[in-house]
Amino acid sequence: MNNFVIKNAKYVVTVDGQNKVLSDATIVIEDGKISAINPPSAPNYEVFDASNHLIAPGLINTHTHLAMTLLRGWAEGVNLDGFLERVWAAEGAIMDGETSALGTELGAGEALLSGTTTTLDMYLNPAQTHKAAVQVGLRHIAGPILFDFPGLDGLEWQERIAFGEKWPVIHQEIGGPFTPLFYMPHSVYTDSEEHLTEVATLAKKHGARVHLHVSETLAENNQSQAMHKRTPTEVLRDTGILDVPTTYGHGVHLSDSDIDISIKAGASVGHCPGSNLKLGSGIADLKKYQDLGLVTGLGTDGCSSSNDLDMWSVMRMAAHMVALKHSPADVDLVRIVRAATIDGAKAVGLSDRIGSIEIGKEADLIAIDLSALHLTPIHNVLALLVFAAGRSDVSDVWVAGKRVVNSKVLVNVDVKDLKNRIDERMKALEDLK
Ligand SMILES: [Zn+2]
Repeated sequence: MNNFVIKNAKYVVTVDGQNKVLSDATIVIEDGKISAINPPSAPNYEVFDASNHLIAPGLINTHTHLAMTLLRGWAEGVNLDGFLERVWAAEGAIMDGETSALGTELGAGEALLSGTTTTLDMYLNPAQTHKAAVQVGLRHIAGPILFDFPGLDGLEWQERIAFGEKWPVIHQEIGGPFTPLFYMPHSVYTDSEEHLTEVATLAKKHGARVHLHVSETLAENNQSQAMHKRTPTEVLRDTGILDVPTTYGHGVHLSDSDIDISIKAGASVGHCPGSNLKLGSGIADLKKYQDLGLVTGLGTDGCSSSNDLDMWSVMRMAAHMVALKHSPADVDLVRIVRAATIDGAKAVGLSDRIGSIEIGKEADLIAIDLSALHLTPIHNVLALLVFAAGRSDVSDVWVAGKRVVNSKVLVNVDVKDLKNRIDERMKALEDLK
């Protein structure tokens, strides 16, 4: 039974409809869900004393490739093309099912320790990666990856579709914290229009959502114009992909018409400022997307382009980008925090279950230890979250009411053993260095 009480919380950042920040608050969790906030009297459950903590919803990473943690620092000083060339060579050498699972175990552990409780993860071998992440305790959204060429997993297109047909059953059997069904065609530049149409049919048949890279770079847009005489978003519309809820990884270079098409279709963006800055891909106009009502969450992208899974630095960079593209007065801290939580939940189809601290929602919660000097004094709680707090301040994490980080220690992972297994596997990359 996942019943407990968070008592005396110094602050609770609810991210509810009014964006309430509570002080000296009590939260009751029963059967993994939030059953009461500030009740007259709390039931006699196990107590987490949060008198020196801020409680917030777990952060939601809306675009990542967790297994690529194994390639952290592998492709430096390159743009997206150079990056892909170097990364694909390394992946070809090591990324079988077992190694994909190993990298995902690392990524899931890193995510949870830093206060991220949900990830939208696109990677090869999703059955293995999903199982690994669920064992670590993460709310892990995975799905079959579909692209035209055989790729590292050696699957031909028909085998990818056949696996996609089996995915709902595999996904159900693996279990873990609830996640929606997703299919993940990599991008418009790796999937023909005919194949995208097949993916749309598959997703509609199974009531699934779609996640893929969209307009990450201007080069991608130019290639799309040359090949299809349309933007990537227009290709997605015309192939029926946008008939199902779709989450764009990046969405940096969306035209006004693309934005309009996307809003009407109920599509959303996983904005990845760290990766976009590092690869020089451009600056997505977060403020414009939010002003117009294009649902936008935040993401890290994979660790070979952003080097870590730190959603705190992502929040900070997202805010800095708004200041740079517009003005400091346009940086709305509420919007930044919402992008990292409830808007991320909307972007992945989970806003009825997670993303805010409200009665009836699942208890995906993080506790931030406020004792550090860099969090002192507290004049503005949201400014603390966006500009001062970091991974090292996350002390405890719950997913669906289950404690997965206890006093900065992962509950389900032997970290020393994990590091040893990674060191052993990384020997296979020596010859490629
Ligand atoms: Zn990506």
